[in-house]
Parts: sequence; structure tokens; C-alpha cells
Amino acid sequence: MGDMFRCKDSIHRLLEFLDGDLSPEEHAQLEEHLKWCPPCMEFLRSYKATPGMCRKALAAKMPEELANKLSEFLRNRIRKA
Ligand SMILES: [Zn+2]
Repeated sequence: MGDMFRCKDSIHRLLEFLDGDLSPEEHAQLEEHLKWCPPCMEFLRSYKATPGMCRKALAAKMPEELANKLSEFLRNRIRKA
């Protein structure tokens, strides 16, 4: 295993980050990933700029894996709320 993580790993951190549940170390790793990964960076930027109800629509523009993870995340959130 290298010290760089891939999008697949960053998705989990991204979702934890959005959930406000990320350690400073994990946050740093995520930031590092975002530096060289435009799709993840773009996703995070779009996500932050999108009002809650529109976030589902955002999933349509994402890579499939990211979209699946996000809709799973959103479904869980909506159930909890
Ligand atoms: Zn990525």
C-alpha cells in the first residue's frame, strides 16, 4: 500500500468530512488527495455550494462509484433526519 489514497478511499473520508466526523490527520490526507484529484475536488466544491435538496441531482454528474456512495450517504441522512 502506498501513502497516497485513491478516490475510493477518499470517498469515505469525504463523506465523513461532510458529516463533520474527521480527525485532523484524516482531514490532512483528504486535502492532500484533493490537491491532485480534480474530480474529488470538484465534487466537494459543488457539494458545498449546493443546497440540500439539490444534492441528489449532483450525483448524476459524478463518477458512478462516487454517485453510489453519495446517494447511500444521503439516503441514510434523510432517514435519520
Ligand atoms: Zn479522488
